Amino acid sequence: MTTKKIELIIAPKTPHFVGDGFRVHNFIPSAYHLDMERMNPFIMMDYNSKHYFAPTEKPRGVGVHPHRGFETVTIAYNGKVEHHDSAGGGGIIAEGDVQWMTAASGVLHKEFHETEWAKKGGVFQMVQLWINLPKKDKMSSPKYQAIKNTEIAKVDLDKNGLVEVIAGEYNNVKGSASTFTPIHLLNAKLNTGGKAYFRFPAHYNTALLVVEGEIKVNDEIVATDYFALFENKGEDFIVEATENAIVLILSGEPIKEPIVAHGPFVMNTEEEIMQAFNDFNNGKFGYLED
Ligand code: MN
Repeated sequence: MTTKKIELIIAPKTPHFVGDGFRVHNFIPSAYHLDMERMNPFIMMDYNSKHYFAPTEKPRGVGVHPHRGFETVTIAYNGKVEHHDSAGGGGIIAEGDVQWMTAASGVLHKEFHETEWAKKGGVFQMVQLWINLPKKDKMSSPKYQAIKNTEIAKVDLDKNGLVEVIAGEYNNVKGSASTFTPIHLLNAKLNTGGKAYFRFPAHYNTALLVVEGEIKVNDEIVATDYFALFENKGEDFIVEATENAIVLILSGEPIKEPIVAHGPFVMNTEEEIMQAFNDFNNGKFGYLED
């Protein structure tokens, strides 16, 4: 056993709004701490920590916008999100559900609080990840995976809690989402004093986010809403919940190709970014009503 140590613990930054529905702390890329390369294939992480939204007749969110070259993955912890895209994908995800949208060659989509939920208002909490695609898949067809919590594979750790395997593998249990490159995306739901053991290849970029409660990793405390980046050395670590905790764990094989990102497009070259803007302006991303 070779211990994978924490390289850096990052406090949640001052939140900003994405549209009017997502009040997020941005962890990836993080200006002073880590760039898109460092957590590649996880090239963006926005975290809406618990935030109360007042009742409204007009759901809050983000209007129609494009993406190309990667996947957007939304994990709902509290509240409901409604999604529609120009490839015909869409649906509602609620607490515990995951929405995995492969933008690939390009989609237009919109993301709003679900209408009935918005009318009542409430505490909203979610994570959105952008997951990079390898060059050979960046222009493949868009795709949409709506994954209800009941469909997520779970590994029972008895009195310690459980681990939801959103993608990849944990204790030989395979995840529910299909991915283009090797990725492990896990939600550990641990009881006070509960422990879970993790093992990932040393070179995989690995991090965790404490969504609920407080944990110790190799005896180092990581508090609620904090993000911990692991070294690319060692393979094993233990998460121990010092109180009931939910921890999102991400580990993925780096895609060793150049990243050129501009707004909603993440490609390999400047030319491909220009092409994305041209295609978008020429209506090649399809149509989606406001
Ligand atoms: Mn989007």
